[in-house]
Amino acid sequence: IRWTKDRGWHDAEVCARAPVTLDPAAAVLHYGQEIFEGLKAYNLSDGTIALFRPDQNARRFQQSAARMAMPELPEAVFLQAVDELVKIDTAWIPKGDGSLYLRPFMFATEAFLGVRPSHEYLFMLIASSVGSYFKGGEKPVTVWLTDRYTRAAEGGTGAAKCGGNYASSLLAQAEAMENGCDQVVFLDAAEHRWVEELGGMNVFFVMDDGSLVTPPLSGTILPGITRDAIITLARKEGRTVREERYSIDQWRADAASGKLKEAFACGTAAVVASIGKIKSSAGDIVISDGTTGPVTSAIKARLVGIQRGEVADEFGWVHRIK
Ligand code: PMP
Repeated sequence: IRWTKDRGWHDAEVCARAPVTLDPAAAVLHYGQEIFEGLKAYNLSDGTIALFRPDQNARRFQQSAARMAMPELPEAVFLQAVDELVKIDTAWIPKGDGSLYLRPFMFATEAFLGVRPSHEYLFMLIASSVGSYFKGGEKPVTVWLTDRYTRAAEGGTGAAKCGGNYASSLLAQAEAMENGCDQVVFLDAAEHRWVEELGGMNVFFVMDDGSLVTPPLSGTILPGITRDAIITLARKEGRTVREERYSIDQWRADAASGKLKEAFACGTAAVVASIGKIKSSAGDIVISDGTTGPVTSAIKARLVGIQRGEVADEFGWVHRIK
């Protein structure tokens, strides 16, 4: 579906996947005016297809659009696009562990070279079937603490899901992989001390009193939908969840003293992945014995159960496609 300044949203169509033609001066190619989302469609055991909180993706897409000086796509249009694409052929949505990953995105197509918001955009949605996110399956992940790169600074675009944030994190992610790690951990830009998030996931800490700690939505991290679901579920079952800053030194000290029992990462792709070890140029931190802990396992089981229609959906998070 296209947007132009004079006509607004128009020309929605469903078509076979094919290359997109762009003018070489299209704004997205020069100034990176682009945003996206990621969500999954699950093939439930009763044969229905379900999405997890797609309204939240629609809302975050609007927030990203606002930050990137782009027009907001109405939530109903976003949701209709997702429904229609999924319904084309539900037979290729994997059952069991797999799912259909949906990628809505929007970019600036107007051809001009001045630096200003574009007056033309294209919103598209593509999909591909996916299996388990990490090659190691359910094994705890090892993360790399980068001391060279930061992801986002105050006043920047850290809370938006825009391509530029990921472009600037690629080198850090490559560094993580060179060091044998699955993901990179970013610290804040100002003091280089506070844990923010991983390359593509939010992070939680499980303390010895059973409480959870997760970095606050300071404007520099992505407001994860999985993060929000975990906070809601944990509070519902009586756990204390503190959205507060947690420093890398505290992480090191709490892991050494045993106050920190578990750490896990969360996001649409991996849902919940326990963090067994953090590697850095200043030495490694192993959390407990490096295996997946009981709190992480329980939270993961509950969330995956809801997403797959096996656990009661008391918050109305599961959107079934009819
Ligand atoms: N942080 C970043 C940088 C991400 O790319 C993602 C994945 N969208 C997340 C956190 C987790 O967000 P969500 O739970 O909405 O997938």
